[in-house]
Amino acid sequence: MRLNENFLNVKESYLFSEIAKKVNDYSAQNPDKKIIRLGIGDVTLPLVPAVIEALHKAVDEMGAQETFRGYGPEQGYDFLREKIVDYYKKNTIRLELDEVFVSDGAKSDVGNITDLFDKDNVVLIPDPVYPVYVDTNIMNGRKIEFLNANANNGFCPLPEGNTKADIIYLCSPNNPTGACYTKEQLKTWVDYALENDAVILYDAAYEIFVQDENLPRSIYEIDGAKRCAIEFCSLSKTAGFTGTRCGYTIVPKDLKVKVNKLKLLKIDSDVVEINKLWVRRQTTKFNGVPYIVQRGAEAVFTEEGQKQIMENINYYRANAKVIADTMDEIGIKYFGGVNSPYIWLKCPNGMKSWEFFDYLLENINVVGTPGAGFGENGEGYFRLTAFGDKDNTVEAMNRLKKLFGFEHQTEPEQEAEETKEDSE
Ligand SMILES: *Cc1c(COP(=O)(O)O)cnc(C)c1O
Repeated sequence: MRLNENFLNVKESYLFSEIAKKVNDYSAQNPDKKIIRLGIGDVTLPLVPAVIEALHKAVDEMGAQETFRGYGPEQGYDFLREKIVDYYKKNTIRLELDEVFVSDGAKSDVGNITDLFDKDNVVLIPDPVYPVYVDTNIMNGRKIEFLNANANNGFCPLPEGNTKADIIYLCSPNNPTGACYTKEQLKTWVDYALENDAVILYDAAYEIFVQDENLPRSIYEIDGAKRCAIEFCSLSKTAGFTGTRCGYTIVPKDLKVKVNKLKLLKIDSDVVEINKLWVRRQTTKFNGVPYIVQRGAEAVFTEEGQKQIMENINYYRANAKVIADTMDEIGIKYFGGVNSPYIWLKCPNGMKSWEFFDYLLENINVVGTPGAGFGENGEGYFRLTAFGDKDNTVEAMNRLKKLFGFEHQTEPEQEAEETKEDSE
């Protein structure tokens, strides 16, 4: 037996373990300090009532002879796929039912999709980025080219003169930078992909956070995208499904690839629909998302469900605004925060990412995520998230203002609260 030694090339990620270690050490030495965590990339609000009700109902169905369900369709139940098609329709995008694949989350499909592509493709990945794109391709032994995302291009890099790529990963709104591509910028990528026979793997896990109506929430808002892009969506950040697990992937039937080995494959056409290959892949390696979970997901797309999840999204957006406003006040440069739950800030005074991490932990007991953990271009940056508790977020920002010499303007009720805290 020989290993797939590509696995040995995957770099150990020390990011979150290192953060945990530093925080644990600090709190062991300072047990009386209240640490506020704004580093997490996980949601904190519970599932909305519409979802819980649907889940309960589905559980009961599974316990009754007449309504029990065994294996379901690998691509997802039609009741959910129809809701997803309708969701896109509201955004004036027309999809067919069999272009929608229900998944157990965006991460799985983003990783699994690499099954469809030859090892010898050149993969283009922006840096900094969500680590899954890089690591899954290293596991397959693929060559990766990095595309510099930085302050100069607003962390939304575009193809450059010498860019040569077959597979392009884009994430917008972006994790970790919070940056969001405009339609014009995405058009540049779509044109590039069509011209170069490349495929765009578009991660739209944060689409719901886009507030600006001129910014795209789906790559299919761009003409031609159905011929070159696969889109990955998730209910994790949009509806609190990080622990419940459900997402969906769009593989348009217009996405076709020319193949060379015609005779070997015994197919009559020299073009293959990626959609068909993905069906084959999924029906072979995946047995679908639990019926119960899909009923819960269906509820997300009802009128009531949408209203309820938007309340949660607005709660997180308000947190993002508190953080962004604080950066404005102190004069710290940042990206994101408006159309994204992430605030990607430039560490002040030329500090490096981990230096700023230690500085915040030790001085104001606030935890964030060092940007250096997301790629070389992340050095000198720092990620704060809006997924925390509202009061804690406000308190963390007040501590930050104080640290930078900006006493926050006290309104009467906040003053009362502060007095109470002082007297504790
Ligand atoms: C959180 C996140 C996902 C979601 O993954 P799930 O498997 O659906 O929970 C996907 N992409 C990015 C960039 C993310 O940050």
